[in-house]
Amino acid sequence: MRFRTKQIHAGVEPDPTTGAILTPIHQSTTFVQPSVDEYLASGYSYSRSANPTVRAWEEKIAALEDGADAAAFASGMAAINAVFLTFLNAGDHAVISDVAYGGTYRLATTIFTRFGVDFSFVDTADPATVEAAITDRTGLVLTETPANPTLKYTDIAAVSEIASSHGVPHAVDNTFLTPYYQRALDLGADLSIHSTTKYLDGHNATVGGSVVSATAELHERVAYVQNATGTIMSPQVAWLTLQGVKTLSERMDRQSVNAMLVARFLEAHPKVSVVQYPGLESFPQHDLAKRQASGFGAMVWFEVEGGLEAGKLFMDGLELWILAENLGSVESLVTHPVTMTHADVGEGERARVGITDGLIRLSVGLEDAEDLIEDLAQALDRA
Ligand code: PLP
Repeated sequence: MRFRTKQIHAGVEPDPTTGAILTPIHQSTTFVQPSVDEYLASGYSYSRSANPTVRAWEEKIAALEDGADAAAFASGMAAINAVFLTFLNAGDHAVISDVAYGGTYRLATTIFTRFGVDFSFVDTADPATVEAAITDRTGLVLTETPANPTLKYTDIAAVSEIASSHGVPHAVDNTFLTPYYQRALDLGADLSIHSTTKYLDGHNATVGGSVVSATAELHERVAYVQNATGTIMSPQVAWLTLQGVKTLSERMDRQSVNAMLVARFLEAHPKVSVVQYPGLESFPQHDLAKRQASGFGAMVWFEVEGGLEAGKLFMDGLELWILAENLGSVESLVTHPVTMTHADVGEGERARVGITDGLIRLSVGLEDAEDLIEDLAQALDRA
């Protein structure tokens, strides 16, 4: 099956007892066993360990990523936490993209350091820097590409090769482009992580996460942590995600067209000092973005002349765009990372990696581009 067919049909069979076309929401704690000897004959015993609705989602996302299998989690952070718990022990070290979602940085620096794990946040855009950061204690390389919020890209194939030559698993946070545009495992990564909260759901309806593994052996280790820590996705969330993902390709294509139109408008506006979108020829890693993925996605960032104060006037002046923390939804959202998504990344670290005070992040939605641009224009007039 090709991608569009898989996003609708993979993992889903008509319900065997009723013929229901949609996998039912199996809202049940436990599953009745026919006899002691036939324990787990159906594959299900208790919904923390496995649930049929969640399983349908896991099979679908594994198929979309060309992975061996997948484990679904209560959130994107629960998915990242599970990857850390699977591959890192006390005394170990991990290499992580210097620009990544603020929650990933917080989990590493304030939780895992308490258990004797240490981290190097390096410029993974330069594969040689990753190689230099790996030590004999390194248990994991985690890259986020494109990264939240600066959109820095990592060459997945190059970093995977380096990690593999050191026997270290490479996990990619593939949230921004999804497997529709970027096939992390096909490029050589061992694990692909998603906050399904974003494009995979796409409707601002759920919080969820997934880890897709390239091999059954890796999956077994992640699934062990999923069960042991009780962080599995709920059946309700799995059901909503199963519906949302059916239009992933159509949403992402249209949202990317809108993003390009928005980026071009901003690029030409006299009050905009900088605009970054991977589809613009001026984007520093435009060639890698073109080579590594089949689309540029729908995330844009820019700064208004006049810095933070002008930026605040702009954000507060928007009428159609919604000031909120999520991204990837059909609604267009605007975020100020320094006060919102990346508030827990220290000022010095933010400055080091280019998350400036004036950076405004746009998640371009599915509305009419003309309406989105008119709203940006009137808010820029006020800034
Ligand atoms: N990874 C990326 C790239 C994100 O942007 C986010 C959230 O913004 C996460 C992971 C965490 O996902 P969640 O909010 O579903 O826990």
